[in-house]
Amino acid sequence: MTGDQRVLLKLSGEVFGGGRVGVDPDVVQAVAREIAEVASAGVQVAVVTGGGNFFRGAELQQRGMDRVRADYMGMLGIVMNCLALQDFLEKLGVDTRVQTAITMGQVAEPYIPRRAIRHMEKGRVVIFGAGMGMPFFSTDTVAVQRALESRCDRVLFAKNGVDGVYSADPKVDPTATKYDELTFDEAISRGLRIVDQTAFTLCAENKLPMVVFGMEPEGNITRAMRGERIGTLVRP
Ligand code: UDP
Repeated sequence: MTGDQRVLLKLSGEVFGGGRVGVDPDVVQAVAREIAEVASAGVQVAVVTGGGNFFRGAELQQRGMDRVRADYMGMLGIVMNCLALQDFLEKLGVDTRVQTAITMGQVAEPYIPRRAIRHMEKGRVVIFGAGMGMPFFSTDTVAVQRALESRCDRVLFAKNGVDGVYSADPKVDPTATKYDELTFDEAISRGLRIVDQTAFTLCAENKLPMVVFGMEPEGNITRAMRGERIGTLVRP
């Protein structure tokens, strides 16, 4: 990959918690190391983090909470992940800016797309937090939207426990096979569910290539961000 490439990495909240509620600093540090390696090699990097390690609005709703309020809690949880990642990136000497969709001047910049692009051009990693700032959205959708608006070349979805897109759920169907590459149309005609529907549609309609890959083994984030062919590429 050449130095002028710009990629967006989506990290789910699960990554930050190491499978538990809250943030596991060891895990975040390891992820930061991988991002730092790529950023220092000249790739422009944006990150969108999830927040499922704290709250998921839909789950809280099932347990009696108002969906809108629960979604805002979800978005606030996301910001904590962003700050943890920023901290470890800066400890590694990587200039990093967090921009949040919900304004909170003391902890982050507001979401200003043109400024985000400028940061990346200067070699800073930009972490987009607080989702879209709107209830009823998922961070997968946010990842695609931010990647489009900040003109990224690709959006990368790092997954836990699965290393790409399969013909069926490999945990259920032992005959499932992994795709190295497929088109958006093929994914639709085969009924594959890769990311949430809104995110997928946004990606397909705007012809933004998507890579789905597994976090394991260590180094995969770096490989995917560098443009090595791992996981599954879904393309126009
Ligand atoms: N959320 C939201 N609007 C957004 C993004 C996120 O309301 O634009 C809320 C929603 O409640 C969601 C939670 O934040 O469940 C955490 O995000 P998500 O579930 O996408 O995180 P992940 O599954 O990637 O950890």
